[in-house]
Amino acid sequence: MKTQPSLSELSQSELRQMMADLGHGRYRADQIRVHAWRGTAAGFHGATNLPGELRSVLASELRWKTLELIAATSADRGLTDKLLLRGYDGQEIETVLIRHTGSSTTRSRQTVCVSSQVGCAIGCVFCATGQLGLRRNLTAGEIVDQVLEAARRWGSADLGPPTNVVYMGMGEPLQNYKEVVRSIRLLSEWGISPRRVVVSTSGLVPEMDQLAQEGLPIRLAISLHAATDEVRNRLVPLNRRYPIAELIAAGMRFSGRTGRRVSLEYVLIAGLNDGEQDAAALRRLAAGAGAHVNVIPMNPIPESPLRAPSQDHCRQFAAAVGPRATIRFSRGDRAAAACGQLRAAMQSEKRRLDRTAERLGSLPLPV
Ligand code: SAH
Ligand code: SF4
Repeated sequence: MKTQPSLSELSQSELRQMMADLGHGRYRADQIRVHAWRGTAAGFHGATNLPGELRSVLASELRWKTLELIAATSADRGLTDKLLLRGYDGQEIETVLIRHTGSSTTRSRQTVCVSSQVGCAIGCVFCATGQLGLRRNLTAGEIVDQVLEAARRWGSADLGPPTNVVYMGMGEPLQNYKEVVRSIRLLSEWGISPRRVVVSTSGLVPEMDQLAQEGLPIRLAISLHAATDEVRNRLVPLNRRYPIAELIAAGMRFSGRTGRRVSLEYVLIAGLNDGEQDAAALRRLAAGAGAHVNVIPMNPIPESPLRAPSQDHCRQFAAAVGPRATIRFSRGDRAAAACGQLRAAMQSEKRRLDRTAERLGSLPLPV
């Protein structure tokens, strides 16, 4: 399907050039971007500080945004919002907005957790997105639009703008390398410094090396989930291609080259990777890599019997890994859970409604 370019996929200088080409001042680009960020206009026609004729031309040549808000859930007394957004082709993705209010020692942060793909081809056994398979890559514009949506949502509630972006939503960012890197560069022009960006990967070693050469001082999170190849092969199928030793070595090359920390993510699953030996192996691995470990009790996902161990067991596991480990009781879980799960919940709700409709002998609901 041929679509017009969107505001979100143009760089600041491309938009300024477009204004000049249309015979207008380059500053018009900045006026438009302020509206898009603050939500003071819902489209080009609403940008009333621009000449009417320019607004009409822009409305016919550019899309104001690429994603439409379908549903939002809120949890943690409004600190976590989960958005379901729909692309031009009807595909749905999730974006999670997380506010950290800060303390005497930490600054407040507003983090947007973005999706990079619709679905994911990696197929980790504990992940709702993995069960979908890959539908398509998101464009850089669609990634940026998730952050713009967050900026407008927080802005309209008089909360501060997004400060951090993490690529931990649906999809494997390094399998959509070009658009992800472009989105990081575009986001820096919206005020999100690459230093406050985290890309999470299940371990595509060649792309990790490539990313280290981009001159972007981002942080990398490695989704490890197991400290031996035997266990990791079962949890993250990609491990058969890039086993743990290669993955950790790539992580160390990344931090050596960028000077940025690499963290290890470890989703804890009862009976699969939560034993004493797993903790001991993880402790050695983390020490060898000089990396911090985030231990994340698994969120349950539809149609899977896999579960997190008890909270006590999670704490014991983290303690056995040692001071490099922090337990992260997931924030997203009460807002319809982690990665891919709001979408899954909406789908099962739709199936339930479909079944009811069938029972009543009427037509199924439109998708
Ligand atoms: N594909 C990338 C980034 C998206 S997944 C990656 O795998 O790193 C982001 C994080 O969510 C990963 O660390 C992933 O392991 C975690 N995750 C996925 N499903 C989860 C679940 N059911 N419970 C807890 N964390 C989950
Ligand atoms: Fe894909 Fe990440 Fe989910 Fe694995 S955890 S299936 S890599 S989104």
